[in-house]
Amino acid sequence: MLETRVLIAGGGPAGASCGRFLAREGIDSIILEKNLEGEKPCGGGIPSGAFTELGLPQSLISRKITMMRVHPPAGASFDIQFPSGYIGIVNRKNFDHGLREMARAEGAQVVAGAFVRFIHKEKGKIVSEVRTSDGEEKTLNIRSEYVVAADGVHSRVRAALGLKPVRSLYTLGAKVPLDTDACEFFFGGAAVNGYSWIFPSAGLSSVGIGSTDAKILKPALEQMMANLGAGIDGLRLRGYRIPLWEAEPMRMANILFTGDSAGTVMPFTFEGIYYAMRSGTFAAEAIGAGKPGDYPKYWKSRFRLRFMLMKSLWGLFLKNDTDTERLLNVFRNKVVQQRGIRLWLEKSDRKGSLYSFINALRKQITF
Ligand SMILES: Cc1cc2nc3c(=O)[nH]c(=O)nc-3n(C[C@H](O)[C@H](O)[C@H](O)COP(=O)(O)OP(=O)(O)OC[C@H]3O[C@@H](n4cnc5c(N)ncnc54)[C@H](O)[C@@H]3O)c2cc1C
Repeated sequence: MLETRVLIAGGGPAGASCGRFLAREGIDSIILEKNLEGEKPCGGGIPSGAFTELGLPQSLISRKITMMRVHPPAGASFDIQFPSGYIGIVNRKNFDHGLREMARAEGAQVVAGAFVRFIHKEKGKIVSEVRTSDGEEKTLNIRSEYVVAADGVHSRVRAALGLKPVRSLYTLGAKVPLDTDACEFFFGGAAVNGYSWIFPSAGLSSVGIGSTDAKILKPALEQMMANLGAGIDGLRLRGYRIPLWEAEPMRMANILFTGDSAGTVMPFTFEGIYYAMRSGTFAAEAIGAGKPGDYPKYWKSRFRLRFMLMKSLWGLFLKNDTDTERLLNVFRNKVVQQRGIRLWLEKSDRKGSLYSFINALRKQITF
């Protein structure tokens, strides 16, 4: 039996950030990661504001991108230059490793292994069964005051509590030898409720497609690659899910759900890394204050309004090509572009930047 104050199941952006900030609060934790060598399928795009806000070193960035290219359903693509800031593209294997190393350097313990199930509660403590994979495989129990679920969209902790998986968008993608100078977004056609993307990197670019209809993914990706003058033969295609945020409960007593296990991915843009890291730090802060019930409050006060706005835009505009075209045309307006980009890249917590974006949008959208 191992003892720790906080067992963190999952060492991705949410879990590693939680462990790092718990250590700063002087609280010991075990970050349990089942695949230390894994690389999550992901575009790896993180807005510049996240690096500043969370004190992340620039060395984690493999390439900086300062422009996005939008391809509306009817064609006539347009570019949006970032007036300041950038999207830092990270390699997820290196990035997740780097975050765990930062947590370890501050005092968190990183253990190779998987959360399996809850055994029982014992004198106010939670006992979890884990399967360690460092050298010889062993099953052991960990007793903790708190468990933080940071084990992603297929959360085992949720399943162990009898909770349904978070609702999600299906994606299929690959790393391809194509280069571009912008993060590119392709809308319309088969990608129902979603879109396709190219995220350039220092080496291979990430190309992918997301939709609520899993059946269209392969033919639509094939079509996209053909449009780009390439094929999918020989590519390592990887399918994965992205949560569709639904304001899921973020806490059950002393079990706190963070990142994808709580569905904290921004609707419409499907940006999840920053929000996963931030949910991890909020969970750490609430545990540090001895008030786990404050964790969902921190989250709501900082992000709920933005998530609700983006969920409405997603519901209104990504359902068919005509409406998508209408919304994207609004983004040809320079004021909407600049306020939207500022909101995305800066991650300011000032409500003013959100309202000025909403006002700019309202002036352009006609119903
Ligand atoms: C194709 C695709 C492209 C994306 N592109 C972007 C993008 O460009 N920018 C962006 O911001 N977001 C992007 N996202 C979303 C982003 O990847 C996630 O929101 C983010 O990784 C969530 O972080 P997390 O720590 O909550 O979960 P994860 O990153 O999924 O980490 C969970 C960790 O838990 C571990 N784990 C799982 N089960 C167990 C267990 N039982 N015990 C112990 N450990 C366990 C896993 O190995 C993993 O390391 C993309 C997602 C997909 C699918």
